[in-house]
This record gives sequence, structure tokens and C-alpha cells, in this order.
Amino acid sequence: MLSADAPERPANTARLRDFVRDMADLVDGERDEAAVLDRGGALLEGLVAQDDWLPDAFAEPVPAGYAQYLLYCDSRERFSVVSFVWGPGASTAIHNHTVWGLVGLLRGRECSEGFTREADGTLTPGPVGYLDPGEIESVSPAKGDIHRVSNALADRPSISIHVYGGNIGALRRSTFTLDGATELFISGYANDVLPNLWDQSR
Ligand code: FE
Repeated sequence: MLSADAPERPANTARLRDFVRDMADLVDGERDEAAVLDRGGALLEGLVAQDDWLPDAFAEPVPAGYAQYLLYCDSRERFSVVSFVWGPGASTAIHNHTVWGLVGLLRGRECSEGFTREADGTLTPGPVGYLDPGEIESVSPAKGDIHRVSNALADRPSISIHVYGGNIGALRRSTFTLDGATELFISGYANDVLPNLWDQSR
């Protein structure tokens, strides 16, 4: 079990720099989505195995609900990395992604409920899973990417690190209700500035 305490400063951002470099190498050479999820999942597992690299500004809970901070976006928008900071008990709407995604738990505990969309558009609840620190899961349109995610902890924030096969905050996606109603959304990001991964003087 990793520490739930905030990391000591300064954050070891070299870990994130190495991760985005490895992800770029991966998407350069690999077109098969299952292989990207498999190998990218191993990279993400390595990243969330340590909790000393996320700068505090991108671990900041918002007063209500959750915040999605962009940590990095590939210059060709082939992948993006975000920190998802959950307030106590916070939950998303039921939503899709339209691209592959990997989720790794950094702090706290997260719950994900999967849904299947039937031919008439209605949603059938599927498996419910929990992530603890260091654990990862994946979503993809190929194997079902509709879910609702929540902070499994009612008394403190949780933080997960997500990697998506596109610029997730800019994609046109959908929210769903169980009766099949959908609404388009573009999530955007909570932050205006990104972590500086490239100062290697220290
Ligand atoms: Fe999601």
C-alpha cells in the first residue's frame, strides 16, 4: 500500500518525462490497440507505482465534484495524460471516451461501473470494479467504453492518472442516462498551464 500523504517537494517530474517519452516510442511503432493497451498499461503501472512525481498544483481537489488536469499532450494528439482528482464521494455522469484509455490509481480508491448499450439505446449495468493505489484498468471502444467512475472514499480525495489515445479534453464525447438519452460534451481541462517536465538543471 502506497502512502496517502502528499509527496515531498520538489516533485520528481523526471518520472512523468520518462513516461511520456516511452508512450511516444510506443505509439510511434505500434498500431494495434490491444498491444498499445498492454504495453502502455505496463508503463502506466510503473508510473503509478511511485507517488513522488505529481506536482501539488495538479493534485488539488476542487470544492465540489472532480477536476481533470492536463499533464501532457502529444504534439500530434496521439495521446494525452491527465490527473483526475476526485473530491470525497464525487462521481462522473455515465460517459464514453471514443478512444482507448488507461487508468492508474495514484492515491485513494476509485470505483468504476461498466454499462452495455443495447440495440434500443438503453443501458444495461455491467461489472463494477475497484482500483487501489498502483492498480490499472483500461477502456476502449472495441471492448466497451461506457462507464461511470466515482471516488470510493467518502472522506478524502482520490487521484487517478489517465492516458488516452487522443487529446481527451478536446474530443466530442457523450453522456448517457439509463433510458438511452445521450448528450454531447467536450470535457476541456481544469488547468491553464502545464507541468514543466523539461527543466533538467536540477
Ligand atoms: Fe471515463
